[in-house]
Amino acid sequence: MNEYDSNRIAALAEKINYIRTKDIKETDCYVLNTCHIREKATDKVYHDIGRVKKEFRNKKKPIIIIAGCVAQAEGEVLLKKESYIDAVIGPQSYHEINEIIIKSEKKSNKINSTEFNVIKKFDQLNLLKNSNNKISSFLTIQEGCDKFCKFCVVPYTRGPEHSRSLDEILLEAHQLVDRGSKEIILLGQNVNAYHFEKLKLSHLLIELEKIKNLKRIRYTTSHPNDVSTDLIDAHKNCKKLMPLLHLPVQSGSTKILKDMNRGHTIDKYLKIIEELKEKKPTIKFSSDFIIAYPGETEDDFNKTVSLIKKVKFINSYSFIYSSRPGTPASNMRNVDIKTAKERLKIFQNVANNIKKDYRKKLINSVSEVLFENKIKNEDKYFGRDEYFNSVIVSSKKNLTGQIKKIKIKQHNHNTLFGEILSDCQKDKKIKEEYAA
Ligand code: SF4
Repeated sequence: MNEYDSNRIAALAEKINYIRTKDIKETDCYVLNTCHIREKATDKVYHDIGRVKKEFRNKKKPIIIIAGCVAQAEGEVLLKKESYIDAVIGPQSYHEINEIIIKSEKKSNKINSTEFNVIKKFDQLNLLKNSNNKISSFLTIQEGCDKFCKFCVVPYTRGPEHSRSLDEILLEAHQLVDRGSKEIILLGQNVNAYHFEKLKLSHLLIELEKIKNLKRIRYTTSHPNDVSTDLIDAHKNCKKLMPLLHLPVQSGSTKILKDMNRGHTIDKYLKIIEELKEKKPTIKFSSDFIIAYPGETEDDFNKTVSLIKKVKFINSYSFIYSSRPGTPASNMRNVDIKTAKERLKIFQNVANNIKKDYRKKLINSVSEVLFENKIKNEDKYFGRDEYFNSVIVSSKKNLTGQIKKIKIKQHNHNTLFGEILSDCQKDKKIKEEYAA
């Protein structure tokens, strides 16, 4: 979502003639869009500011704006602690970026803009064409969260749930497709909680599917409690909806899920998986896991390991629990770090073996790959298969934006290597090349 927001911030600032640059030396205004999910997010802000300070030593400093969830959560502290910062701007206030830049140009007081103005924000953004021209583009349909999992800062930094109207979303989707996007990834902190008037995510998927030149649809990130029957049916009926669902579970222990305030049990989670598989036999799953959540016993941890063995997630994203200031879980006693590290190691070993087995089975299978870009200085193209796996092939012809049937020949931990099916017999050397 931060990538989507950063693009929107840049597009807004263009209206007052600020153009995005990759060269820090020519920066007049430096916007650092932050994420508070990962550990040490605030430290990273200070570190980054240090880098800018060094670059502009003995020169006129650029305007420094900290945006995003760290700004929301710790704005006042940031402004007090680091005088180099001119403004902090929360994720629901970034539509005010131009006003803030103009005020900062005039060297006004430090600005703290961290109100939850989400309706105003989308009203502003709707006036702005989404000029992204990527093959695969993000589109925010929903923001915020009302679930209040005990470990999570999102309800405090992004605010309550808000869904955009169907018309706004369709308009933006058409803009993206008109500019060449073939895939749209619908975004929301709780994307499947999407509801606008009586419309739910399943309705939106059906409408998006009607866009002729749109080839693929994905959505992320979901909560198990919002996987409704109509959404399960959409997985069967929407041909453009890709057969991979990222469905965070966080723990394999119902007791821990209760402590986390996740609001569902493991039985319920497994039932959803079964129902989805019944309706869409080719569907696969990925998930997020918090290892060593406060109170996690050996038995709870083993249940998490059992769960990944049972579901065989093709990707498991796992982290040791780390507390976020202000969340209820931050007052709980942590599992000792040695145990936590051991558990993470065991978990990741099992998860990696599952992933390796899955990838091994893909060798010599045929995948449909949407190619996104050429690899710099090489006759190779990068794309993704239906399961969001990265795939690289050699080609002298431009493949960008095309979907090709690819025979998978090799893999490493993160990438599959293949050849265009029609060229399979021609290029005998490909195996040695990829092996090298
Ligand atoms: S559902 Fe997701 S975003 Fe909402 S509080 Fe829980 S972890 Fe955070």
